[in-house]
Amino acid sequence: MDHIKLKSKEEIEKSFFHIPFWIAPDKNLFLSRSDRFKKLAKLEKSDWKLYLQLLSELSRVQHGLLADADAVVPELKRNDSASLLNVYSTAIPFCFTPMLNALYERSKSELSAHMEQTWQRLLAMPVPEQEALALRILQQEIKENDQEYSIWVHAVLQVVWTYWAMQLQETDVPSRDERVQCPCCGSDAVGSVILKSGEQENLRYLHCNLCNSRWNALRAKCTFCGNTKDMTLQSVEGATEGALHGASGETCDVCQGYRKMFSLSKEQHADPVADDLGSLALDMMLGEKGYSRGGANPFLVMEKEARH
Ligand SMILES: [Zn+2]
Ligand SMILES: [Zn+2]
Repeated sequence: MDHIKLKSKEEIEKSFFHIPFWIAPDKNLFLSRSDRFKKLAKLEKSDWKLYLQLLSELSRVQHGLLADADAVVPELKRNDSASLLNVYSTAIPFCFTPMLNALYERSKSELSAHMEQTWQRLLAMPVPEQEALALRILQQEIKENDQEYSIWVHAVLQVVWTYWAMQLQETDVPSRDERVQCPCCGSDAVGSVILKSGEQENLRYLHCNLCNSRWNALRAKCTFCGNTKDMTLQSVEGATEGALHGASGETCDVCQGYRKMFSLSKEQHADPVADDLGSLALDMMLGEKGYSRGGANPFLVMEKEARH
């Protein structure tokens, strides 16, 4: 006979009311992102749709690399640090170059002639040069000449760091006051999502642009300067579907900064990386009003190239 153990009142309360500080990336994250990019590309009328389509393919390839990561990515070194994956204290792992090659092999049929040339230069670099480039991109110290390689290199780094973040337990990532940078890897949040009511009751989670972790941050509190008064949500009116429908900018009149937020109640499949690139009209509107953007999107750098 099965042994039945009753849960204590505390255990039941914890499972019902527990608000996690940190949420690990989902193993199908890149696949969902790929679908989302595809949907946003369909809704896009300008040539920007070509870039969204490319990123849909790239995300699909990332999903494949993540599925194969067990065999190539080294195990996480565990220590007492709260930031186990910190980009300022972790070296580029040896698996980087083989994974970069695999990314090329699996994406080459989708590349334009211009991108193919970029790739050939990237693949011809000696390994130490590739790793030095990856480290600059990882630490957001990109030189002008690095820009053209950035999305491909970052795509590989995302897979490695997401794979590592998936191995962490909630207890590995304790809550802390500083909420702008990712508590796992120290990268910038690309934006935030407001979870659906019923799930975590309208809680806001910032989303890491590298390891795809999510961490809880109070709503109506500026994630740059900590201001809690007069935070305003602004959105582009009239959108009934797509990224602009769920997107708003949380603007702060103290520091004139804003960060984008995506409502999962309005757009249940919103992805902070994809929807950010599908809602650039919001950035333009807020830029015209004098606000400056916070939240780095590693895929935003290719805008000019994609429009050639
Ligand atoms: Zn992170
Ligand atoms: Zn502020």
